Amino acid sequence: MFKRIDLEKREDLLAPYAKKSKDSKGRLHKEPEHPYRSCYQRDRDRVIYSTAFRRLEYKTQVFVNHEGDHYRTRLTHTLEVAQIAKSIARALQLNEDLVEAIALAHDLGHTPFGHSGEDALREIMKDYGGFDHNTQGLRVVDLLEERYPEFPGLNLSYEVREGVIKHSTAYDLPRPSLPFEATASPLLEIQVVDVADEIAYDNHDLDDGIASRLIKEEDLKKVPLWEKEVKAIRKIYPHLKDEVRKYQIIRSLINAQITDILTQTDSNIKRHKIRKVSDVTKLPIRLVTFSKPMEELRKPMRAFLQKNLYQHYRVVRMSNKAHRFITELFNVYSDKPEQLPPSTHDRLKKEDKHQVVCDYIAGMTDRYALDEYKKFFEPYERV
Ligand code: MG
Repeated sequence: MFKRIDLEKREDLLAPYAKKSKDSKGRLHKEPEHPYRSCYQRDRDRVIYSTAFRRLEYKTQVFVNHEGDHYRTRLTHTLEVAQIAKSIARALQLNEDLVEAIALAHDLGHTPFGHSGEDALREIMKDYGGFDHNTQGLRVVDLLEERYPEFPGLNLSYEVREGVIKHSTAYDLPRPSLPFEATASPLLEIQVVDVADEIAYDNHDLDDGIASRLIKEEDLKKVPLWEKEVKAIRKIYPHLKDEVRKYQIIRSLINAQITDILTQTDSNIKRHKIRKVSDVTKLPIRLVTFSKPMEELRKPMRAFLQKNLYQHYRVVRMSNKAHRFITELFNVYSDKPEQLPPSTHDRLKKEDKHQVVCDYIAGMTDRYALDEYKKFFEPYERV
């Protein structure tokens, strides 16, 4: 039988700059180690069993859940991020368990209705401590999940918590991370999750954008990265059904971007003579990067998504509607916090009501928020 000690020994086969579970800086509240799971494997399992994780199923990525059954939700997005991140980590000989735990936790702080929900809470909370989904993710795993008699939250390892707060992509700005040691760069495992997030959403948004007909495939002809894959696929299979062809293009796009990350990161690691974890965290630049040519190719693709999907009038309408009713819900609760369910009453005695309302709304799924809205604003709806 494989014990935890054996698993930890097996990690000696990883790259010398991979974060080993036996070198973890540990948990906020001391706990005995598990007999047959490493600390990061245990963290991954804690994330999967959390309420916040299950709620991701009904939280918007781009398309609101009731718009269709086949679009990505935050849960399927999260699973795609974890899959891409693990493929990258495995090939680079990094700690796959740590990467998986961070990837599965990376969006736990997201509000209902994606970025419009977040924007609404950020505006409302600006005088009461602010709001952003990374800090909220840390609140979820450190405070809001109730599981253990001995401590609040999930009591995850330092590195997974650091991954949640330092998670940063073009849409995520990491906040000054006070409870964490200041480093020039995050661990390679954290950097891997960041790029995996970008690869996942760019590609699935193209996929969902076409499926929803908000994006027209012929318009994508102007996007060189897309066109390159279209031509390559057409050469091998000149007569594919539209649906299969689209899948094949997306598949090759993801593969091309992961391959590029792997070769560029490998060469970055060699060029900067990275030999241990502290070489990574002391270096003021990121090592897990796309090559310059791939970065140039990705720019028009992202600009295309921005213009044609995220700013599509129907997406903007939905976002604006969500912004409006999240704000109205906030006002209703904070005017009379007694309307909040009893589970919040203990916290209302100790904490600022705005923070309690903010946590309550941020935790909601899209459909729960819509149901609550109906209960408050539709006269014939039961409360
Ligand atoms: Mg994400």
